[in-house]
Amino acid sequence: MRIVRFGRGTWGIVEGGRVWATRGPGGAPTGRRYDLEDVQLLPPARPTKIVCVGRNWRDHIREMGHPDEVPSEPGLFLKAPNALAHPGAEIPYPPFTRLLHYEGELAVVIGRRMKAVPPEEALVHVRGYTCALDLTARDRQQTDLQWVRAKSADGFLPLGPWIATDLDPQALSICTRVNGELRQYGHTRDMIFPVAELLSYVSTFMTLLPEDVVLTGTPSGVGELHPGDGVEVEVEGIGSLSVRIV
Ligand code: MG
Repeated sequence: MRIVRFGRGTWGIVEGGRVWATRGPGGAPTGRRYDLEDVQLLPPARPTKIVCVGRNWRDHIREMGHPDEVPSEPGLFLKAPNALAHPGAEIPYPPFTRLLHYEGELAVVIGRRMKAVPPEEALVHVRGYTCALDLTARDRQQTDLQWVRAKSADGFLPLGPWIATDLDPQALSICTRVNGELRQYGHTRDMIFPVAELLSYVSTFMTLLPEDVVLTGTPSGVGELHPGDGVEVEVEGIGSLSVRIV
């Protein structure tokens, strides 16, 4: 099932080129139907928090210059909900950075409250999965004590286009393209901390609520964006999320 939020916040299910409005995410159909191309898609979650893992792929750790530092536990940070941007958004290049980077990622959307859940029970708390672009002001990430500007500026988290349910999160390829050119390719089987372990770990100290979002880290190939660039994050079994930097 593909769960969307659209228009003024209506939930729906995508089937082919159609959107069927529903009562709540994945709920009963209301009978209203729209053409997918006619609706404005919104981020498919209204999270109280967005929890992100910094180093979850060995080849990305290597490219960031930390070859021997495979973490023993997940290195987490937060993005704030103001960072959310919708599929197709035009995101202004912010004035406080000269090094805006893309990081294509698999995002997990929580469906049921999670508190101290063991890894083997974690995935039943997941509503589904979507595509995320973890926009990062790389220069400010290096100069600032906390990554508030670097990670949580307005528009720094395009999310969508919809939530795909019933996926195996460790069996998905991820691609990022800039102006149609492939820049990142990874497979989720190569994550250092699989999704179930990440969610369980977070839930040991932070209660995860329905619609909270967890970003699972980026594979290698991160790089610069410039005004005018079109960025696309595609995750197998979900679809693709496209935005433009302006
Ligand atoms: Mg990231």
